[in-house]
Amino acid sequence: MKKIVYLFVLITTHYALQAQRQTTATYHANERFEQMGSALPTPNTTRTASGAPGKDFWQQRADYDIKAELDDEQRKITGTETITYFNYSPDELKFVWLQLDQNLFQKGSINALSQNNSIQTQMSSNAVRGLNAPSSVRTSIVSDKEFGYKIMAVKDSKTGKALQYTINNTMMRIELPMSIKTGQSFAFSIDWNYFITEYYGRSGYEFFAKDGNANYFIAHWFPRMCVYDDVNGWQHKQFLGQGEFTLTFGNYKVAITVPNDHIVGATGELQNASQVLTSDQMKRMDKAKTATKPVLIVSQEEAEKAEKGKPTGKKTWIYKAENVRDFAFASSRKFIWDAMQIDQAGKKVMCMSLYSKEGNPLWGKYSTEVIAHTIRTYSKYSIDYPYPVAYSCHSTAGGGMEYPMISFNGGRPDADGTYSEQVKYGMIGVIIHEVGHNFFPMIVNSDERQWSWMDEGLNTFVQYLTEKEWDKDYPTRRGEPQFIVDYMRTGATEQVPIMTSSDNIMAFGPNAYAKPATGLNILRETIMGRELFDYAFKEYSRRWAFKNPTPADFFRTMEDASGVDLDWFWKGWFYTVEPVDQDLVEVEWFALDTQNPEINKTTAKKEAEDKRNTIARQRDKDYIKESVVDKNPDMKDFYNTYDPYKVTDTDKKRYETYLASLNADERKLVESGVNFYTLKVKNKGGLPMPVIVKMQFEDGTDSLVRFPAEIWRLNDQEISKVVTTKKKVVQWTLDPYREIADIDEESNSFPRQPTQPTKFQLFKSQGFSRGGGSNPMREAQQNQQPKAGQQGGAKN
Ligand SMILES: [Zn+2]
Repeated sequence: MKKIVYLFVLITTHYALQAQRQTTATYHANERFEQMGSALPTPNTTRTASGAPGKDFWQQRADYDIKAELDDEQRKITGTETITYFNYSPDELKFVWLQLDQNLFQKGSINALSQNNSIQTQMSSNAVRGLNAPSSVRTSIVSDKEFGYKIMAVKDSKTGKALQYTINNTMMRIELPMSIKTGQSFAFSIDWNYFITEYYGRSGYEFFAKDGNANYFIAHWFPRMCVYDDVNGWQHKQFLGQGEFTLTFGNYKVAITVPNDHIVGATGELQNASQVLTSDQMKRMDKAKTATKPVLIVSQEEAEKAEKGKPTGKKTWIYKAENVRDFAFASSRKFIWDAMQIDQAGKKVMCMSLYSKEGNPLWGKYSTEVIAHTIRTYSKYSIDYPYPVAYSCHSTAGGGMEYPMISFNGGRPDADGTYSEQVKYGMIGVIIHEVGHNFFPMIVNSDERQWSWMDEGLNTFVQYLTEKEWDKDYPTRRGEPQFIVDYMRTGATEQVPIMTSSDNIMAFGPNAYAKPATGLNILRETIMGRELFDYAFKEYSRRWAFKNPTPADFFRTMEDASGVDLDWFWKGWFYTVEPVDQDLVEVEWFALDTQNPEINKTTAKKEAEDKRNTIARQRDKDYIKESVVDKNPDMKDFYNTYDPYKVTDTDKKRYETYLASLNADERKLVESGVNFYTLKVKNKGGLPMPVIVKMQFEDGTDSLVRFPAEIWRLNDQEISKVVTTKKKVVQWTLDPYREIADIDEESNSFPRQPTQPTKFQLFKSQGFSRGGGSNPMREAQQNQQPKAGQQGGAKN
């Protein structure tokens, strides 16, 4: 519906002010644009109001010296570790807490006992075996193996005396002979062993029945210090499987003994290459230092040969890593190994990949190149990569998991070496993501057990930027507003706010990864702009590198460094489940009355004629042969010939007087021919967002206007906004480039545009099969090489 209303001119400042007030007459009080205030912790000298670490910032440190052996026969790890714990807190510590993550896999773990489940009429054997087993560990019901740690000894390193300890599920408290005072350290040792589980997404082994070998990906494998900080005291919330790890920085020295035909990759730099590598491998490693593409340290041919062999002894690989919060490693005789060194802001980084032949040809082609690209791109958006190495290891078919300097990643071609587009981009995406985790949370060390979004969300956001810089057409899954809409449409009982403790999150992928990443994208592209956003995001990374930020530190820094008030956005996007749903209810069209009688009377005449042009009047022309006034002219008078639309001298004089009363500015405005449109937009979703409107003009061109989210600050339900333009608008569209995750696009156009029909398929009673999964690469190869004797027709 278009309305044309003529405004009678009353151009005074006074009137303009009144008009403005009038549009906000209905005040809907709300707190959407109030500051977060007490919702954030009170700033202090440890964490400041600007979001930076304060002058009294402190954090603990834990150094580890670990000796461990991998038993390939029993799939077991035996280790002994010495932890030197430095107390930099202002508090005296009477006891310390450690994390026993492997206890997640005990039969009676909280994870196992708190799973909700039921029997289905059809279940896979894996699902049955996994009933009441810790998540994703499929062996529990029928396995004789007892998973979880056997703690053999806990000793005071100085005196050699046994220390009292108590195990509470996945946590262990060690009582100290004397409190550790501020500035003091305490060293103690733990002997332990455990059976390795099958790879469950974060660690474990993958067994290959064809050649009888296993690839090992070993993580959260040794008792690790809990974090003691100014936020939680001890962070010893149990490991329930979903909430990941909260860890303290320190220096590591780790000696890993494995069968002597294994290749190992780990957090840190290898210290004894000459003892564990062949001279050929050493030479190739040297070549990798100057190479511009990955150099094979162990080729596929060599790896396949090793697969068929047997170990003749053991080898110990020794690593050192400084200022890391964790340590992980991978080991197998099946590994192919390639390497390429890059220079990142003057620092040499050896990028390396470990993968068995099952990963090729994808892994040899992409993995190490993707590591290099990830380090460069993340360094640009956050801080320069500070570590000397970065590994990507091929763990299983899908998914990935991150540790400092090393990650375990999925993405596996089919047995014939072909792969779908999804596998290719899934693999590149997961490597970017897991290598990217080096920055969040391995360096910007957020509390993963509590806040999944602080590492997953921020990382998924930079992953999105990195994917685009890999390939402008990269089929990104997460980060763009239109991809979060389906999730935002789900009901309020199916969502929890992003600001929810990790273990209590429903729909983990959309909630902890996609929604926060999308929020940051909206800030960058639509609310703050790239320049303000990028500076603030980099400042957050710089401030909190090698420290432990909280959500408040992130929220505050983003505002502190950009000068943009974002409290309304944090409140809406992070603390509620409200979606965005703007509705362009109505557009009214106005034009200034020029008072020119020539124009006005012509228009009025046309309108009057239009009104008389009824079907009845048309019919009467022939139907009424002769009316009374036709027949009898005496029945006519002045008004039978009077033309009310004729411009008179009086009209002209009145117009001249009016023009003379206008000053130059007013006259310009009256003669401008500008169109005034009043847009009425409703906020049906609740979450305020900028209002972005595209105008499609009569002449085929278009233009965009943007109004900031603050347009909703006095009325968060409906706003009215005047848009002026010389050209006539024929079509209005809200959010035309899908920037704000509006969950209902149909209400975004005015006049309403017919949308695409929902298609439904007609199935014949026979045939019409849709076929299996999509692997165009295999189809193309098969099409190129038709088998002898086969002429067209179906292929197998
Ligand atoms: Zn992740």
